[in-house]
Amino acid sequence: MDISVVIPLFNEEESLPELEAWIRRVMEANRFTYEIIMVDDGSKDRSWQVIKDLTQKNPYVRGIKFRRNYGKSAALHVGFEAVKGDVVITMDADLQDSPDEIPELRRMIVEDGFDLVSGWKKTRHDPISKTIPSKFFNGVTRWISKIPLHDFNCGLKAYRHNVVKSIEIYGEMHRYTPLLAKWSGFGRITEKVVEHRARKYGVSKFGLDRFINGFLDLLSITFIGKFGKRPMHFFGLLGTLFFICGVVILAYLSWAKLVYKEYGITDRPLFFFGILTLIVGTQLFVTGFLAELLVRNSSTRNTYVIEKEIG
Ligand code: UDP
Ligand code: MG
Repeated sequence: MDISVVIPLFNEEESLPELEAWIRRVMEANRFTYEIIMVDDGSKDRSWQVIKDLTQKNPYVRGIKFRRNYGKSAALHVGFEAVKGDVVITMDADLQDSPDEIPELRRMIVEDGFDLVSGWKKTRHDPISKTIPSKFFNGVTRWISKIPLHDFNCGLKAYRHNVVKSIEIYGEMHRYTPLLAKWSGFGRITEKVVEHRARKYGVSKFGLDRFINGFLDLLSITFIGKFGKRPMHFFGLLGTLFFICGVVILAYLSWAKLVYKEYGITDRPLFFFGILTLIVGTQLFVTGFLAELLVRNSSTRNTYVIEKEIG
């Protein structure tokens, strides 16, 4: 199968028939074999009924429904588990992304050999309250991840099949699939300017809290990517620095007291500072040990990607 299209959706009943018809038109014009996986993220409207009707009309449409609203990341996760196509396209259900981009995105994966192509909504049809924070957010993500993309949050992305099978999206990590892909060893990542359209039906499902959550997710994802398998290297280093600092301070104060018979040591701010750093250092160290124990005993899936096997 050439292409799997994964569409996470939450209360998008009006858009779905139009979206399906448009994707079908593009696929048929290009003679692609395809499937459309619509993941209903616990919609409260008639979305699931609409999906059921679409599967009757078009045998290439598949539907997955959550019992409640788990979020876009969860929807993408189960969608990725289900895909069969060589190239996997994700797109939003609200008709803001154009299916006309699909053939070129696929070409960049198949012919140019990219692992992931991310859409870039260069001209956006969103309110300014969204575009300005978004610029900042993308800048920080670019700087931390060293992946030169302008628009991490774009819903329209194309992946090589192996990429979606190797990455695990959880929490609110759907914005960071390029980072997850890079850390799984799929480093050929690029972007393509895509057409962005104004939302035709329904309302946006994300508010300004996306930037706060997005930033916190970026911190944890960076930490996990770097130290997830070796937390002691982080906590141990910090702990040692603090500990040494504390020991030096307290040794100096003891020396002052014993040799120079200095009184009032306990009135000096340095005394409290020394004790503080000693305690903080010890705590960091213990945290590091506990984190190591957790990593050793955790039953999470092995995240080392095996590229080939023989024999
Ligand atoms: N979405 C989802 N679950 C949610 C929130 C959103 O599946 O909890 C879907 C939504 O239906 C849409 C896509 O994620 O297909 C992007 O959402 P939206 O258009 O609201 O985001 P925006 O365009 O404002 O960034
Ligand atoms: Mg949208």
